[in-house]
Amino acid sequence: MEHKLLKKNGKWICEVCRQQWKGKPRAACPGIPVRESFSPSQRLSLKTEYELADKNLRPTGAPAACFRCNSRWDLLYWESETEFVEPNLPRIYSWENRPQNLCTSYKLYKYNRRPERPLGCIRHNGSWIFLYDLEQCPIDDPSLPPYCEYGAAPKLKTRSQLKKQNLAPGDAQPRGFFRSWDKRYEDWDTILLWHPDDCQWEPPDSFICKATLRSRYLLSESWIRRLGEPDKYTSNPHHEYFAPMHLYSRQRVEAFLAENVEEYCGWLDKREGYVAIFEANREAIEEGRDRYLEARKRRSLQQRDCLKCASGCATSQGFLCAVHPLGLEDWQIPCVDFCLKN
Ligand SMILES: [Zn+2]
Repeated sequence: MEHKLLKKNGKWICEVCRQQWKGKPRAACPGIPVRESFSPSQRLSLKTEYELADKNLRPTGAPAACFRCNSRWDLLYWESETEFVEPNLPRIYSWENRPQNLCTSYKLYKYNRRPERPLGCIRHNGSWIFLYDLEQCPIDDPSLPPYCEYGAAPKLKTRSQLKKQNLAPGDAQPRGFFRSWDKRYEDWDTILLWHPDDCQWEPPDSFICKATLRSRYLLSESWIRRLGEPDKYTSNPHHEYFAPMHLYSRQRVEAFLAENVEEYCGWLDKREGYVAIFEANREAIEEGRDRYLEARKRRSLQQRDCLKCASGCATSQGFLCAVHPLGLEDWQIPCVDFCLKN
């Protein structure tokens, strides 16, 4: 648009934009009055489009004035000549003055709440962020247990904490959860929490060779055959041309022995009779055969219980009890700490 120029007191003045020059201007006319300075009350009622949008308003009238902002013209509108952009927008807050009980949908998700009925909003980078009252929002995922702030319930454990205690949740229902921010994937991580009382004893599995089956579990060839195929084959560490090692899952071996516990104890008993016949005779002579047999029977029954007990597990030192790692004395049988597995 061309300026509408007048010459007055040696200066060029545009009737439209009201700018003044000593020489004839070359720049185009913005078409509306240019204001380089404002009285405070004028500046309060004249707004740019961005300032209006931050208040959920858009101009309905023509621009009232403009000012130069860097290389372009910024238009100013009367705030009285505007309409709402979104008629049903809730109350507008800033990050600083928002009420403490209101939070964003982002935070709602952390607490497993679904956004419903915003009670406020904040203008952020040209769009609206809505604010909700956490207490008034419904549960988002009903399959999740109650929210439990990290560290608020030290008795509840994560899956990895349970693993360190040789426990596994299995089918147990989690009793709580929390969410933590995963910086790498820029998303919330949902972490479930279980009570150790609900979990199963699950020592980490290891693999044992045939020699260990014979020495630690005192299994014969026919017992080993009954175990079935080995779980793993590895090359023999002693010589590359030797046959591969047959490895058995310790958990599977122990589960098998627990399933056949009566028969297994009978076998141990019989085998003990073969390998320690001298010892048995000596004790029988010294302590009296009846007492010996009674003690042996009690020990055999205890051994059966130990295999079924939640405190028992096999280690490289043999079958070990977490409560009585040194084994039981005769007077401690039957064990008062017996607790059935699972
Ligand atoms: Zn002009």
